[in-house]
Amino acid sequence: MAQTPTAPVVLAELATLSARVGADPLLVQGAGGNTSVKSDGVMWIKASGTRLGDALTQDIFVPCDLAAMRAALAQGGARADQTEEFLLRPGGLRPSIETSLHAVFSQTIVVHVHCVNTIALAIRADAPAVLSAKLAGFDWAFVPYAKPGAFLARAVAAAMGPATDVLVLGNHGLIVAAGTVAAAEALLGRVVAALTVPPRHALHDPQTLAARAADGFEALAADHPLHSVAMHPDLLRAAQAGSLYPDHVLFCGLGAVVLAPNETPAQAVARQVATGWPKPPFLLVPGAGALIHSGASAGAVALTRCLGEVLLRVPEGVGLTWLTPAQNAELLDWDAEKYRLALDAAR
Ligand SMILES: [Zn+2]
Repeated sequence: MAQTPTAPVVLAELATLSARVGADPLLVQGAGGNTSVKSDGVMWIKASGTRLGDALTQDIFVPCDLAAMRAALAQGGARADQTEEFLLRPGGLRPSIETSLHAVFSQTIVVHVHCVNTIALAIRADAPAVLSAKLAGFDWAFVPYAKPGAFLARAVAAAMGPATDVLVLGNHGLIVAAGTVAAAEALLGRVVAALTVPPRHALHDPQTLAARAADGFEALAADHPLHSVAMHPDLLRAAQAGSLYPDHVLFCGLGAVVLAPNETPAQAVARQVATGWPKPPFLLVPGAGALIHSGASAGAVALTRCLGEVLLRVPEGVGLTWLTPAQNAELLDWDAEKYRLALDAAR
């Protein structure tokens, strides 16, 4: 291996943007999202399990061999998902599991976010049509859901035109690409503005909710968006029907567990565990609000808020696309994601 490359000057600028993006829970939750810069054949990308919001206080970027990553993608198969093989610095953290997704862009700067306004559109059955109306004037493409990693990266490459710089990933999120950090930030702002949907809102019932809190579950903060989901029957059904994007599966399990009348939280948890899924970090109480377990990981807490923000942006009567049982299973069996979950649990 050649010498460990020196970080380019532009990396400091990308770190500043990354910290700003990472501080916005409407753009990034937990360790989700990632940014990269390509310089002299090296792609500097966020390390797996680190947080964009920590970009100014921690060394979150790792150098990767861009040509080797692109060659692995061209070969087919999933070798590009063994991201540690492309690391140009011994030891330490491994590159993001979404490194290959950044490598397919020719642009210098790539920003990938789990923007809740984008996800609220990208989970809709009519996503291509509704996005076409909102993104007129952008050079953009929509890619239906694929498992994050090499398979998604190749689908993105196939969907892009020569100057495409906006990608909406079905049941996943958004990517923007540009020649400079400033241009990437400006493009991100314009796309998010074009995709912004006003959230629904309904007052919850704190007293009824408090009466159902037990077994380590307590009411979420009064202004938490998930309370409103529990007040809308259509959104409760949507939450209960399954998971809508990968990080929900990884940090919160299958969809949402809805507390039945006269059921205790412990009984609801046992009901979910009996189906083979892990213990849910939160519970929805119809007509009352949402409860969170006091032992929920930082990632689960962040993804609990994300679910509320996403669902409240889904209008009544719109059909949704949920991840299939096979798509859920492939996420849970994935070694790279187990590594990221272990880092979240260790926080
Ligand atoms: Zn992602």
